[in-house]
Amino acid sequence: MNYISAHDHDETFDPENPLGKPEVPEDVQNAIRTLIAWAGDDPAREGLLDTPKRVGRAWLEYCEGYREDPSIHLTRQFSEVGGYDEIVLLKDIPFQSHCEHHMAPIIGKAAIAYLPRNKVVGISKLARVLHGYARRLQIQERLTAEVAQCIWDHLDPQGVAVVIEAQHGCMTGRGVKTPGVGMITSRMLGCFLDNGSSRKEVMSLMGY
Ligand SMILES: [Zn+2]
Repeated sequence: MNYISAHDHDETFDPENPLGKPEVPEDVQNAIRTLIAWAGDDPAREGLLDTPKRVGRAWLEYCEGYREDPSIHLTRQFSEVGGYDEIVLLKDIPFQSHCEHHMAPIIGKAAIAYLPRNKVVGISKLARVLHGYARRLQIQERLTAEVAQCIWDHLDPQGVAVVIEAQHGCMTGRGVKTPGVGMITSRMLGCFLDNGSSRKEVMSLMGY
């Protein structure tokens, strides 16, 4: 009896790297070693030996958004909305991003709403759009605007409202060191921008 493992015919399989983790180029690892030394530690000590690889891979993941177009999540649309013509809202969507000024974590939650004209998408898609933009180096203001604009451009809704509340590692862990301080940004488009009572309605549904 001949047992053939599934991996025998997979030329990408590397026994040294059975989980297929992405390679981290030497220059990237060296950059991280330089940073460790600059911060005051010894990159050659045992506990830090594999850190450059791990950090390199972690940053690939933090910045996955560069390798996707978030609007792809809005391509599967449903026009059969059963006469539903009210606000669609997804709130308390947790996300993590990194600030482009310090590469420090931004941790927060978003509320995303739109008033459909005649197209809707699966509700989880709104969170995917958020994550597509969050997994990049960001500032909160641009993240908020990009999510709103993407929905506006691809769903042709009557209005879009995005509110993001987040804490910035560069504020809570360094500099003025103010843990617990959150920043709120919002972007309103269409009826939520033009019509005060629509805006009030969506803000109160969001809990603001
Ligand atoms: Zn920052």
